Amino acid sequence: MIKEFKKVLVANRGEIAIRIFRACCELGIRTVGIYSKEDKYSLFRSKADESYLIGEDKGPIDAYLDMEEIIHLAKRKGVDAIHPGYGFLSENYDFARMCEENGITFIGPSYEVMEKMGDKINSKKIAKEIGVPTIEGIDFSISDIEKAKDVCKKLGYPVILKASNGGGGRGMRVIQSEEDLVLEFERAISESQKAFGKAVIFIEKYIKNPKHIEVQVLGDKYGNIVHLYERDCSVQRRHQKIIEYAPAFSVSQNTRNKIHEDALKLARYVGYYSAGTMEFLVDENENYYFIEMNPRIQVEHTVTEMITGIDIVQSQILIAQGYSLDSDKINIKSQDEIKLNGYSIQCRITTEDPKNNFMPDTGKINLYRTGSGFGIRLDGGNGFTGSEITPYYDSLLVKTISWDRTFNGAIQKALRSIKELRVRGVKTNTGFIVNVLNHPLFIQGKCHTKFLDESKELFD
Ligand code: ADP
Repeated sequence: MIKEFKKVLVANRGEIAIRIFRACCELGIRTVGIYSKEDKYSLFRSKADESYLIGEDKGPIDAYLDMEEIIHLAKRKGVDAIHPGYGFLSENYDFARMCEENGITFIGPSYEVMEKMGDKINSKKIAKEIGVPTIEGIDFSISDIEKAKDVCKKLGYPVILKASNGGGGRGMRVIQSEEDLVLEFERAISESQKAFGKAVIFIEKYIKNPKHIEVQVLGDKYGNIVHLYERDCSVQRRHQKIIEYAPAFSVSQNTRNKIHEDALKLARYVGYYSAGTMEFLVDENENYYFIEMNPRIQVEHTVTEMITGIDIVQSQILIAQGYSLDSDKINIKSQDEIKLNGYSIQCRITTEDPKNNFMPDTGKINLYRTGSGFGIRLDGGNGFTGSEITPYYDSLLVKTISWDRTFNGAIQKALRSIKELRVRGVKTNTGFIVNVLNHPLFIQGKCHTKFLDESKELFD
């Protein structure tokens, strides 16, 4: 059954809100934006067909987390569906359920699947059950230091402590020895409690110098599911992605094929629909391990769009309306039909100062000039001359996404675009990004997840 959407509310802000408004606009759907009082002058709100202030008496983040108010507004404004973007409410299965209970379609997977797969311990357990490789560790939450010592002794150091419902690289700690464990364990627990509302910590073996490879999947509500190949997101600072690209050309085709198959196996097993990402670590011998699933759109979805020509956000919206993958609107008739074309790189340009430990910078942008041209796509948030960069939200300014027939060509286009970019008034990380793009290991696709943290010379 198809439910045509006339109005979609985007429960998010910044660049991803604009990205979703664009997809809706192209599908002939009217858009509703929401904004906090701190975002009163932000660009994204004026890109929606209509937008409303929410959470007036709440903080800048909490305004976007107020489920009741958002649903109440959606009902008042005759909204058919809500797109949560990434972050904020995007992985909150209670919110997804509340939407459905109020007759509003949640643009994402079913809340049952979100509940199952949004939790790292649980999704790992499911992967293990069906024979998808996972990292050795415990599949229960631990809060007792003596038990933790035993577990770590059995696993052998180094290990990693993780918050089961963590995200964005937060709540993770690499532990080299029992002394380290004693020092860090309580802190990890209280950090998880503070950041995620629950102290659910688990432990797994720490993989040395892995690559982070993730598979984009897309499924409809009728059991059809495809993968859109993989992305290499190994260029990270403190476990946070900075530059992503596709395809992951330096991992052997054989390993990549196996990872695609396992991603699909897992997605099929849980009855996944909408867009989702299965994340894997690949070690130096190309052993690979499933680490988590993200049941939502990701920041780096763009590079996959560039090399497959498939609009992932539009596909999410059409799937939520009830269209099948092979319908004329989505037009993915089979897996074999999805062809790779060239290479794409996404650089996250942030208002952070690499020379000052990546401290976020704030203030007024006095001049903002971008570099576009052939092979460059810019997905921006609040970058314009005269805009105010506030301290309340993450510091992503614009995503520079380049495409070329060769990887080196994509690097050159990214460098050229960054050269043309002029931002005055606030500091950005462009110098650092340029250093990474020019690094021989990056050019060969050989960066692993610790590369940036170990290469201090890139920060100058
Ligand atoms: P988050 O949800 O916070 O992003 P992930 O579980 O996706 O956390 O992991 C983020 C990053 O942390 C990975 O890309 C990798 O760099 C590092 N990481 C996670 N687990 C391990 C591990 N067992 N060994 C080594 N690095 C890890």
